[in-house]
Amino acid sequence: MLTTLKEVLAFAEEKKAAIPAFNIDNMEIVQSIIKASEEENYPVILAVGQAAIKDGKLALLAATAQVLAKKSPIPVVLHLDHGQSLEQVRMALDCGFTSVMIDGSKLPFHENVEISKRALEMARAAGATVEAELGCILGVEDDISHDDSKPFLVRTEDVEAFNRAVTVDALAVGIGNAHGIYKGLPNLDFDRLSEVNDISSVPLVLHGGSGIPGDMIQKAISLGIRKINVATEIRLAYVRGLTKEVESGDFYTMSNSGKAEVVALAKEKIHLFKNGNV
Ligand SMILES: [Zn+2]
Repeated sequence: MLTTLKEVLAFAEEKKAAIPAFNIDNMEIVQSIIKASEEENYPVILAVGQAAIKDGKLALLAATAQVLAKKSPIPVVLHLDHGQSLEQVRMALDCGFTSVMIDGSKLPFHENVEISKRALEMARAAGATVEAELGCILGVEDDISHDDSKPFLVRTEDVEAFNRAVTVDALAVGIGNAHGIYKGLPNLDFDRLSEVNDISSVPLVLHGGSGIPGDMIQKAISLGIRKINVATEIRLAYVRGLTKEVESGDFYTMSNSGKAEVVALAKEKIHLFKNGNV
């Protein structure tokens, strides 16, 4: 069934677990992620990111996700990842997204508050939920990058002021996490995460979940992370599956191999994010 971020994050809070947000880049990945979530009997967030949008697939992926989500017994959120503008938020809501992220993290604080407020008004009118972002997430994903020389950790006082000004449904925080695959071990600031979690009533989101070791994921969940984004690892799994069977030269042999790899990876992540509590 299609649902919103608010509902699946309330479930995560109750269970002290996290819900995966897997980026979907084609129809086969949507099929595979829904299959994995059904087999694990666990809610899932299907995220459409900027690369997929640039490739002209916003409405196509939304339609695919809706067809499969409506048939599925598990709660499925259709979510815009890193929404770049209110126009993009509008387009996503018009395509039936149940949730949108507005990424104002590169804007000055007050402009981030303003654009998040506007996105919230638009989303609420459509019965949808909103994720905003504070602090920088390092690395590059789909051409969204941050200058590494800038202070990137989310500031506790900003979280407090932001939540006072606008009550979104989820807040992505920069705690040293990065998009893409990490070079070496990620350097996550758990002290900062803990401080932010203590003062935030809004569920927290960890972007850049690809390649974060299991024990660090579990620690982040124990410190209040309720949504974890995984994009790069899903794409890599799909390509690995195709490559494994490339010698066959057969469309469905390769395609099914790609799907099997995505199902296996998604199940592994869901299992980890349940954190032994579900
Ligand atoms: Zn992200």
